[in-house]
Amino acid sequence: MTSNATRVLVLNSGSSSLKYQLLDMADGARLAAGLVERIGEETSRLAHTPLASGGDKRERTGPIADHDAALQAVAEELAADGLGLDSPELAAIGHRVVHGGSEFTAPTLITDEVVAEIERLIPVAPLHNPANITGIRTATHLRPDLPQVAVFDTAFHTTMPESAARYAIDTETADAHMIRRYGFHGTSHAYVSRETAKLLGKAPEEVNVIVLHLGNGASASAVKGGRCVDTSMGLTPLEGLVMGTRSGDLDPAVLLHLSRNAGMSVDEIDSLLNKKSGLIGLCGDNDMREIRRRIDEGDERAALAFDIYVHRLKKYIGAYYAVLGKVDAVAFTAGVGENAAPVREAAVAGLEELGLVVDAGLNEIRSGEPRLISPEYARVAVAVVPTDEELEIATQTYALVSS
Ligand code: ADP
Repeated sequence: MTSNATRVLVLNSGSSSLKYQLLDMADGARLAAGLVERIGEETSRLAHTPLASGGDKRERTGPIADHDAALQAVAEELAADGLGLDSPELAAIGHRVVHGGSEFTAPTLITDEVVAEIERLIPVAPLHNPANITGIRTATHLRPDLPQVAVFDTAFHTTMPESAARYAIDTETADAHMIRRYGFHGTSHAYVSRETAKLLGKAPEEVNVIVLHLGNGASASAVKGGRCVDTSMGLTPLEGLVMGTRSGDLDPAVLLHLSRNAGMSVDEIDSLLNKKSGLIGLCGDNDMREIRRRIDEGDERAALAFDIYVHRLKKYIGAYYAVLGKVDAVAFTAGVGENAAPVREAAVAGLEELGLVVDAGLNEIRSGEPRLISPEYARVAVAVVPTDEELEIATQTYALVSS
């Protein structure tokens, strides 16, 4: 790697999509960003924003056969901006990989053995890991000489103690099938907990933070002195909080009941719990903006969905308060956490005895910056800390290849 190789391309590869960002780690600048969607269909679309030049977003539509063709199209767009992937300034490609099991505890330089290990984890991440492997193969094909780094969604949570990571089921069965709690959104929880410490003017080792990542998928984590000690997602991203379309926690016997008494197949139950539950299952909408609009119009189903969402959130705040013993901050992040003031207000309401208070005026202020929304006197800081998973993946990737 030459000393002026400071750019990192971040790839987030889905089954029919490819999201990307090109960052310059010399100053953290975002040079370009975009998305290819509906790969393999007639109506594929590439949307590319040349951030470095401040140019307009460009779009291409028409068939893009596979991920190889998608990355080739991205490379052409980048080359048109003078940011080609053959540039000596490109230091590495960082891949978001969803499931790293218990093995991958840190960002990892990709080799054939690493790909084989990510493949071995497909049974616990059947939707995500195959797509991530496709992204890795595609990028390796395009630039075989370039370091490729896997950054795992699960890695930050591998510090969880066994008491938090193990389900209380027969140990042999659990181990034979890799059944344990892994947690997800780790890059976001890592980034946001660190940024929260920074906001408090402290080192990550000095603070205990409850991070609430509330996007379409949602998860909470308890971070003690910079290390994750518990998180709400488990074997898969289905456990925990009420989400846009996922149920989160429920009595496992619900599945048995649906199988025995409703005659539903495994795939039907999977689809019910992952795609037709959560907010959308409760009220028909999974966008918090729409739910708030309906509540303002007096819609009772939307109001109940909101209350169920907040009730679960509050239970996790209480649980992680107890897990941590002492809490310095509660940080809200992702689409809902960063934007929905009513969710933040309701989640913390009534927790004054725990030192948690939200200042109504501060909570209403809209900003893209990390900020406190608790009054100065509050014992526990409540913060809004925008997440930036791409920056975190690029930072971890660059740290590995430049060390
Ligand atoms: P993901 O990355 O999981 O798809 P995001 O973190 O982008 O999700 O969050 C998406 C969600 O954020 C949307 O479903 C929507 O409910 C919520 N959201 C975005 N903007 C707002 C807003 N201004 N007010 C309330 N909710 C919002």
